[in-house]
Amino acid sequence: MPELPEVEHTRKNLVRWMQGARIAGVRTSDARIVRPLRPAAFVRALAGRRVVGIERRGKWLKAMLDDGRRLFVHLGMTGSFERLDEGQHEPRFTRVLFDVVRGARSRNVAYVDSRRWGRLLLADVDVPTWTSLGPDPLTDGIDVDALAAKLARRKRRTIKEALMDQSILAGVGNIQAIEALWKARIDPRSPASAMSRADLQAIAKGLRWTITRTLADLAKEEDRPAKLLSQSREDERAASPFRIYGRTVCPRCGSALARVILGGRTTTFCPTCQRRR
Ligand SMILES: [Zn+2]
Repeated sequence: MPELPEVEHTRKNLVRWMQGARIAGVRTSDARIVRPLRPAAFVRALAGRRVVGIERRGKWLKAMLDDGRRLFVHLGMTGSFERLDEGQHEPRFTRVLFDVVRGARSRNVAYVDSRRWGRLLLADVDVPTWTSLGPDPLTDGIDVDALAAKLARRKRRTIKEALMDQSILAGVGNIQAIEALWKARIDPRSPASAMSRADLQAIAKGLRWTITRTLADLAKEEDRPAKLLSQSREDERAASPFRIYGRTVCPRCGSALARVILGGRTTTFCPTCQRRR
């Protein structure tokens, strides 16, 4: 599932491909992805519009259009954008195809999504799903005092689940939470309310560390869709930027890693060097 770094990578691609450009036409018949609009209304509303800017908050993208409307995008489990070469056939599982004109050049940008859990939501104003998001660790930074205040109200939840709560911090998913807690040496099962100020500073540092590393790894693939790192095959894991996700041995102390289910998600941690609070 794409997390903050994959979505930021997507934003950078879309800025290069679509910002300042005009959408000459759109093709879709996918009523689920463009809901609540009907595909025909979605196509009509976007045709001829110019893309003014593309922002990201957590795992959501927002494309501002020249008529004041905005297109919110969530990649769901398997969504991605691809820019097609001239004459290139559209990829399998293309759900929405944009004809993007910049100057005299016209190129197609495809929204591809095999499982169709993504959204392309066109709205006149900012939607609650965007405004209710917590601060974004990359663009807003992490205010340790504000984080402490939010966690104190969630006494019964584990720190791992709290970090993945999009109203606390936007964009942190399963992998980034696993990696950050490993870096901070904190057991993911610890109660969120038991974190000291030093713990939260270590978590903030751990999140910056893992997000920056993942972004650097993705940057090698400029103009290509974000690799779905979480779905990389076993033989590709040696090249993965992750230190414990998808691995079996702790690279810091050599212990066998453990796995537990927290909030329905498999959570890897080191039982030796990640201490319970
Ligand atoms: Zn360890």
